Amino acid sequence: MAKAYRARKKDIAKYEMAVATTRAQRGEASSEQLALVAMQPRCAHCGRTIPAGTRADARYCSRACKAKAARARRVFRQADP
Ligand SMILES: [Zn+2]
Repeated sequence: MAKAYRARKKDIAKYEMAVATTRAQRGEASSEQLALVAMQPRCAHCGRTIPAGTRADARYCSRACKAKAARARRVFRQADP
């Protein structure tokens, strides 16, 4: 019972975050929604918000971005002896 309630609360938070993100992209977010979006972690590679549900310490929005960032770092090192 209590567990189900927590899960639902998490889902609501996820939904509110999604709504805030969409509104912010359209430029129609309230100040509360903008604060919510600003609090969201962003991908270190593309700058997009990291989707809810990923690890709390995730630095990239996807495995693709993680791979691209690693490749970019490698190229950067090779170009700069
Ligand atoms: Zn990304």
